[in-house]
Amino acid sequence: MTDKSESLFNTFAASGAVSKLVLLETFGNAGMLRSDPRLVRLFKALDGMPEQIDFDQFQILQNCSPALFEKVLNGQMAVPQFADFCHELERIFSETADNVDGKLADYIPQLARVNPEKFAMSVCTIDGQQYSIGDSSDFFCVQSCSKPITYLLALEENGENEVHNYVGTEPSGKTFNELTLNSKGRPHNPMINAGAIMSGSLIKRGQTSSDRFDYVMSKWRELAGQMKVGFDNAVYLSERQTGDRNFALAYFMREKKAFPADVELLDVLDFYFQCCSIEVTSQAMSVMAATLANGGTCPITGVKVFRSDYVKNCLSLMSSCGLYDFSGEFAFRVGIPGKSGVSGAIFLVVPNLMGIAIWSPRLDELGNSVRGVDFCKRLAARYKLHAFDSMVGLRDDRLDPRRNLYQSRYGGVVAFCAAAKEGDLVEMRGLIARGLDPNTKDYQERTALHVAARYKRLAVVQYLVEMGVDVNAIDSWGHTPLDDASAAGDSAIVSLLREHGASSSPAERIKTE
Ligand code: GLU
Repeated sequence: MTDKSESLFNTFAASGAVSKLVLLETFGNAGMLRSDPRLVRLFKALDGMPEQIDFDQFQILQNCSPALFEKVLNGQMAVPQFADFCHELERIFSETADNVDGKLADYIPQLARVNPEKFAMSVCTIDGQQYSIGDSSDFFCVQSCSKPITYLLALEENGENEVHNYVGTEPSGKTFNELTLNSKGRPHNPMINAGAIMSGSLIKRGQTSSDRFDYVMSKWRELAGQMKVGFDNAVYLSERQTGDRNFALAYFMREKKAFPADVELLDVLDFYFQCCSIEVTSQAMSVMAATLANGGTCPITGVKVFRSDYVKNCLSLMSSCGLYDFSGEFAFRVGIPGKSGVSGAIFLVVPNLMGIAIWSPRLDELGNSVRGVDFCKRLAARYKLHAFDSMVGLRDDRLDPRRNLYQSRYGGVVAFCAAAKEGDLVEMRGLIARGLDPNTKDYQERTALHVAARYKRLAVVQYLVEMGVDVNAIDSWGHTPLDDASAAGDSAIVSLLREHGASSSPAERIKTE
């Protein structure tokens, strides 16, 4: 730990201390929020420290959250160039904001009264890097965005086989609330109304409605990293009052004996309306989506909410059925599992990378948020996030947010040795901060220390030896950095290397003896 801390400290230190401002900036650029429960202690400790932080203080900070601290400082987060990524999202957001097409849902007054101009976008990576823009602290009801969660809760409790005795896995080819069932008299899939009513009937069957509701709310909070999750009672009352189609669906399913035994139909419907009326901010929704992207474990609390194989089931169905009658087109163009709701919310799950939530209430004729879909298309045009983008290879100049430009092993070492040759310490520090190992060797097994010694870069040699790199690394000709310094005739570097335990290679020793 101490060796690692020391080299981390030295990467950031100038004249024996690390600037507090630089640390704050590094955490900020990585998308680490002060509200992040993993960092509350660290930020508190940092607030009480002076502008210049010595090694002991640095270690106190590191001990507050060791793994995360190292990951952030080494630039090894899920989206390594997070600030650049956010900058691009901001650009896409403002382009999308110009789109004022579509109209509000008006089947209940609560949705018809929402300010149509509202627009929010939030992202959260599987490392808990967060960024929000627009009306991201406004609450909106989740509507059909609740369906994947209800399905996951049913899976957790009953298992895949049991759940799929009651609900299918096929797109219906019909609108979301169509009065139709599959050939077995079951709802087509859990992402449409009939299927969501059915999944709801499989959750906490023996419990009272109030306990069931408490349970679901607690699960939503877990998914959202304990951020606030609300409930819009007016929406609930309106949904219930105007929900004739949902009543019809439920009675139709009961007539077909589609429900499990002992199901209280009105309770199940109530539960469905309640789930539609849960409200969150886009920020909380992005954390929830990131929990799914992270295989069911919340990135900011570490709480395992769902089994990863069930998340896989859920994402598969979101891919084929998540965006009403636009699902096929969305899977083709955007290729990211998503779910939309008539409140204008859409969340996307990029497996093993991030969750994204967008909210803008004006809808297209299929019931999807106009700006939401527009944003997703623009995002897909800029970034390689489509499930099958790995097929495309080099014939594609879109960016990959996962890619750390400096972290490719070979690209990194070439840049590092070139910077050593030029004496460019700023570049070298940046590369190390992004995760490059300063002992890395090039294809001729030369290290940056060999190169710096050969090109008489005293400051670089000093930086590297103080960091503790291997002073006796041997290149493919059998030479050590000291051989290079001697060959270059730089006596200052020769003595500095000797002070740090460097020796000549056996071949050179024989020559000089
Ligand atoms: N709450 C509405 C219903 O069940 C629609 C939910 C939605 O599709 O977002 O009819």
